[in-house]
Amino acid sequence: MTKNKLVLYNSIKKKKEVFEPLNPPFVGLYVCGPTVYGDPHLGHVRPAITYDVLFRYLKYLNYRVRYVRNITDVGHLERDSDDGEDKILKKAIIEQLEPMEVAQYYTNSYKYQISKFNVLPPSIEPQASGHIIEQQQMIGQILKNGYAYLKNGSVYFDVEEYNKKYNYGKLSGRKIDELLSNTRELEGQDEKKNSFDFALWKRAEDKHIMRWPSEWGDGFPGWHLECSTMSTKYLGEVFDIHGGGMDLLFPHHECEIAQSTAANGKESVKYWMHNNMITIEGQKMGKSLGNFILLEEMFSGKHEKLEKAYSPMTIRFFMLQAHYRSTLDFSNEALQASEKGLERLLNAFQLLDNLPVSEKSSYDIETLKQRAFNALNDDLNTPVMLSHLFDAAKYINSVKAGTESINSSDLASLKEIFNDLLFDIGGLLPDKESSSTDSKLGEVMDILLNLRIAAKANKDFATADKIRDQLQAAGFIIKDKKDGFEWELKN
Ligand code: ZN
Repeated sequence: MTKNKLVLYNSIKKKKEVFEPLNPPFVGLYVCGPTVYGDPHLGHVRPAITYDVLFRYLKYLNYRVRYVRNITDVGHLERDSDDGEDKILKKAIIEQLEPMEVAQYYTNSYKYQISKFNVLPPSIEPQASGHIIEQQQMIGQILKNGYAYLKNGSVYFDVEEYNKKYNYGKLSGRKIDELLSNTRELEGQDEKKNSFDFALWKRAEDKHIMRWPSEWGDGFPGWHLECSTMSTKYLGEVFDIHGGGMDLLFPHHECEIAQSTAANGKESVKYWMHNNMITIEGQKMGKSLGNFILLEEMFSGKHEKLEKAYSPMTIRFFMLQAHYRSTLDFSNEALQASEKGLERLLNAFQLLDNLPVSEKSSYDIETLKQRAFNALNDDLNTPVMLSHLFDAAKYINSVKAGTESINSSDLASLKEIFNDLLFDIGGLLPDKESSSTDSKLGEVMDILLNLRIAAKANKDFATADKIRDQLQAAGFIIKDKKDGFEWELKN
């Protein structure tokens, strides 16, 4: 139905390419998923929505997509602080939990919060901890091929040896010489031939409780390995698309390429895609900067950076209003503009049910549709796609006001355009209630709690207590304050 083909920016070639699946109509899509070490936050949402739109659009184009997104539940060394400390282990000790209990808790929390954004669940969500045998087999293959070495119960990838035959740095553009002079001190670094070698298998010290037996002794797999292993297992040695955040490009994805190539003798990925980062008022999001916002806080508005609560659909729409390869700056002003923008589109869509129909249309709907799809085909340019829907909304309002006209077939076509682009592919929900549940609930609570204050002022304590008790029974926590009240919904 569209004249143009889908074009995607391929990070490894640094240019846009027409998307041609290896084995149509099948498409293999692998995306690096969350590390389940803590509560889901704003940083988790952008990749989830970016690849959800891609998944939805590929399905819309009648491809049969197998979307694999992993769960990193093995307590790996963190990228920012490679100090050998196991994050899950640390939390498990503090809270006296089985480490898998911690991982499961945050996995559930991630899935629950992300589902609020109407993000479709992937076809397969494999956990690193469930694929230890496969990871060991891949290490064995890399050792056999001569690109890894064993040292004191740990197995390291031999970057220099690999680079003699293949090109390490192909994706990131980094050169081994530069890497040599820029590396930091790491625990166990003296075991490695070169500082840029990375662990495929780490020996577990006695205190380390997340551990598995192996032919090299008790230990745990290196973080980069799980993605190479699980993508190969579920999508084959060569597959179509690998996505992830730009922060994963190096070293994670560079290492993935090296591991898969070293094990299988060929590159595994045809198209690499990277979504850009979210900034908050121009700054990187970080715990130390005080601008680290959890999803729970976004939905309740309870964070010092937030003027109010924002619904998942407002946030989703806000993300679609930027191209996935651009940075996206989070501010109250921008979010509130998105909230209004989404409302404008949903109002226009609702108007379609009772517009006066004429013989002729005063607008070229076919061209608008073509342009909107062209934008999507141009590396998923959702902001331009949405700008065409805003044009359509303006036209719909003019038809309603009687200054423009529409015929019945164009009316049907407009409904289809909104259904396909905004709801089916964009993943927004058509009813306004779902977009503003939190603020509507807030209004209702204000009404009830103001009634309670009025009752107290009239010394009608029976009514005041009844309102409080019944709200508490319904799962609300009510706190009286000097200047009013506060409430929250128990989870
Ligand atoms: Zn990964």
